[in-house]
Amino acid sequence: MELKQFQAESKRLLDLMINSIYTHKEIFLRELISNASDAIDKIYYRALTDDSIKFDKNNYYIKVTVDREKRILKVSDTGIGMTKEELENNLGVIAQSGSLAFKKENEIKDGYDIIGQFGVGFYSAFMVADVVTVISKALGSAEAYKWESQGAEGYTIEKAERDTVGTDVILKIKKNTEDEDYDQFLDEYRIRSIIRKYSDFIRYPIKMDVTVRKLKEGSKGEFEEHKEEQVINSMVPIWRRNKNELTKEDYEKFYSEKHYGFDKPLRYIHINAEGAVNYRAILFIPEKMPFDFYTKEYEKGLELYSNGVLIMKKCPDLLPDYFSFVKGMVDSDDLSLNISREMLQHDRQLKLMAKNIKTKIKNELLDLLKNEREKYEEFFKIFGRQLKYGLYSEFGSNKDVLQDLIIFYSSKEKKMVTLDEYVSRMPEDQKYIYYASGDSIERIEKLPQTELVADKGYEILYFTDDVDEFAIRMLMSYKDKEFKSVSADDLGIEPEEKTDSAENSEHKELFEYMKNHLGDKVKAVKASKRLKNHPVCLSSEGELTIEMEKVLNAMPYNQQKIKADKILEINVNHDVFKALKDAYEKDKDKLKLYTDLLYNQALLIEGLPIDDPVEFTNNICKMMV
Ligand code: ADP
Ligand code: MG
Repeated sequence: MELKQFQAESKRLLDLMINSIYTHKEIFLRELISNASDAIDKIYYRALTDDSIKFDKNNYYIKVTVDREKRILKVSDTGIGMTKEELENNLGVIAQSGSLAFKKENEIKDGYDIIGQFGVGFYSAFMVADVVTVISKALGSAEAYKWESQGAEGYTIEKAERDTVGTDVILKIKKNTEDEDYDQFLDEYRIRSIIRKYSDFIRYPIKMDVTVRKLKEGSKGEFEEHKEEQVINSMVPIWRRNKNELTKEDYEKFYSEKHYGFDKPLRYIHINAEGAVNYRAILFIPEKMPFDFYTKEYEKGLELYSNGVLIMKKCPDLLPDYFSFVKGMVDSDDLSLNISREMLQHDRQLKLMAKNIKTKIKNELLDLLKNEREKYEEFFKIFGRQLKYGLYSEFGSNKDVLQDLIIFYSSKEKKMVTLDEYVSRMPEDQKYIYYASGDSIERIEKLPQTELVADKGYEILYFTDDVDEFAIRMLMSYKDKEFKSVSADDLGIEPEEKTDSAENSEHKELFEYMKNHLGDKVKAVKASKRLKNHPVCLSSEGELTIEMEKVLNAMPYNQQKIKADKILEINVNHDVFKALKDAYEKDKDKLKLYTDLLYNQALLIEGLPIDDPVEFTNNICKMMV
């Protein structure tokens, strides 16, 4: 018999399991039972579409057997079984969910964190067993096969005997060591309590031969023991149980049983909807970002059950994209069991459920925002972008769901604020909701463009995410207040001193000269109304702001570069302006040099690249010498 090698990734995961110092090794049983239950589900599902297969619920169960003397723990099922190829492919090669966990392992030190928080599946058996044997007969196949492995060296496959379709997973439990008690996994009571703890909701009976003590017939104090097969689990799935009977820990356990994430959920939502649409659901808002969240591989969706039977692992139509981080399941009696993917999309019930679920999630988040502000801010750091993308996409049609969930950093409060908080604080004379865009809070704080608005005592929202300005553009206004960039042409603030036109006509020739020198780099050179202490800044005219130009041009597929209509604003009260006037009268070459320098400075302040850095630095040197 040939010893076959594990695939490299599997081997590493196996090593991790074998050498695990993880304290909750008991979860291996949860994994094996969940695989057994999956295998029965597969027959059930097959029977729905294949008339030759009859599914009589009574014939399907999971059996756990303990043999203390031989140190054997066996998990058998009457599920779909595995062919020789499947044994090789499914157990020799790391499985899908397992491989995801494995990728994550590279980021978590020591690796054993993942074992508790995430399903590592079948291989977890090696935490407690020296030898793992799987004997399986697949549905529709005449032969049974035995797969066996003692760990990382490899595995063997050979023909075996098994009368009925199904699978036995046989563990040879390790011997106790100085600091590990493996005997517990041969203890009937311990095994029973592990099953109750982790696998109570499994839909199929988990049977076990249990020792029962009974009073000997006709005697008074004498007891006799015998074995009796009992069903250990209650078989009531958590979502069918009463909310009042369940604790936070129950939901957290369900979250990790289902492999929804590595973290603990931030919030859970248990829905029992009756009326226009009937369904039960348990939804989770994760605390941490799923590690593949911003990758192409990430699939949004909820598990969809019809009357207790899983019909789809990830039903995307139940969640809008902006809530794609939500995990969980939905069970409805109103759905047909063998409904196809295409039909589902148009299903009226499903649409109603999706709408309902959307509202529930929104309300839960609003509640978090209202009652646990710090937690919400943490949540927003991770998933806020997603909400903002939601505002931006679909032509802003999600406004009602999302506008109150968005928070921004406030210049005044020095913390994150909601739009509602902003608007409720606005002084009577303030017309707009002001915002400033930049790479970071620190950079925005120093933006010259904010001077006038800040000086007026108005609050400014800081936009540090690429998507912010785009999202706000879609929103257009909040509670009838329009948004206004501090770099916008018209700020809606009356200048206190001379009017704009007066100053501009006074220095008309100088500004025209400067504009001509700069050519089409700028639309105009103007006297600034917004600058107080800084000499110069850029603003923009029209729909496209400078920040938007930056974002759009940074997109790799955007071949045609976009240009905002830029205005070079000069602070006429600044000493620099005197120098400009002086140069205009006496030395035009000097004026050109100053104009270039100021323009480039303004670009740098904006975080825009300057056209010719060498020339810029040479010009500075020219001034110094
Ligand atoms: P996962 O359950 O996430 O797919 P596992 O490592 O737990 O990953 O299992 C790997 C694969 O092995 C399963 O996907 C399944 O195809 C197969 N398998 C494991 N146990 C059984 C079983 N008792 N009956 C049938 N197939 C099984
Ligand atoms: Mg599994």
